[in-house]
Amino acid sequence: MAVLAWIFCGSLSLGAAEAKHILFFTKSSGFEHSAIKRTNGELSHAEKVLTELGKKHSFEVTCTKDGGVFTPENIAKYDAFFFYTTGDLTKPGTDKQPPMTAAGKAAFLQAIKNGKGFIGTHSASDTFHTEPDSKEAGTRYQNYGDKSDPYVLMLGGEFIKHGPQQKAKMIVVDPKFPGCEELGSDFELMEEWYSLKEFASNLHVILVQDTAGMKGAEYKRGPYPATWARTYGKGRVFFTSMGHREDVWTNPKFQSLLLGGIDWALGNIKADVTPNLEQAAPKHGDFPPKPDENKPEKAKTKRKT
Ligand SMILES: [Zn+2]
Repeated sequence: MAVLAWIFCGSLSLGAAEAKHILFFTKSSGFEHSAIKRTNGELSHAEKVLTELGKKHSFEVTCTKDGGVFTPENIAKYDAFFFYTTGDLTKPGTDKQPPMTAAGKAAFLQAIKNGKGFIGTHSASDTFHTEPDSKEAGTRYQNYGDKSDPYVLMLGGEFIKHGPQQKAKMIVVDPKFPGCEELGSDFELMEEWYSLKEFASNLHVILVQDTAGMKGAEYKRGPYPATWARTYGKGRVFFTSMGHREDVWTNPKFQSLLLGGIDWALGNIKADVTPNLEQAAPKHGDFPPKPDENKPEKAKTKRKT
């Protein structure tokens, strides 16, 4: 299985500056999204899209679901790590792919702190929740601050819950961030939207979720960060909550934003990532009502993420 889990997604030999190298990790210890599910030994939709973007934009992508690759020797080979994962990746979990070791997780986080890049889409925020974790029991409806899981402290935010897919508005609070030039002051998109918490104080917020008029208790709160960049030690961390739907991965706005984030995380371009959390999303600390405070009869319904 370990061999199957490794698929080399493509390489570049343009003769120009050496292409930087991203490890795209899509292990699902929790819910397995269709966008990263492989069938018949083929790369998943998101893996194909990222590989193609790499070919066009001069970065190399290696795709894996094997958590065993996170050893100090392997970690050193990559310039950035891209997660579209779920759950506790140190457990085999849903997809039964080999887990990360605790030492591998620690080495990976230290590597980011020492200066490598990190890119996360969507359920990268539904990964390594602070324990004990149960969205039904309401343990996610609070912030843990510096007692959060070390992965959450690196990412700078954490998933709470999502409501029904719907068209919703992203407000562009930093139109100067790479890739945002074409987005306008705001845009709408059909997507599964994540309600998030545990925002790091040094977030440089790029997109804010406009919650006004959204369907679902998960969005009964003020606007909050949905895409950000931040530094973590010497490392560069970029996250966007988007990426659930397969058509989002081929949406030009999503690709433009993602490429900007990748270029910055790889250190190819500079960007102003001055912390702006309080100005960009002053109500970021709001929480939606807990399930048992809202519709008790639905509190036990396990939703996919
Ligand atoms: Zn999702």
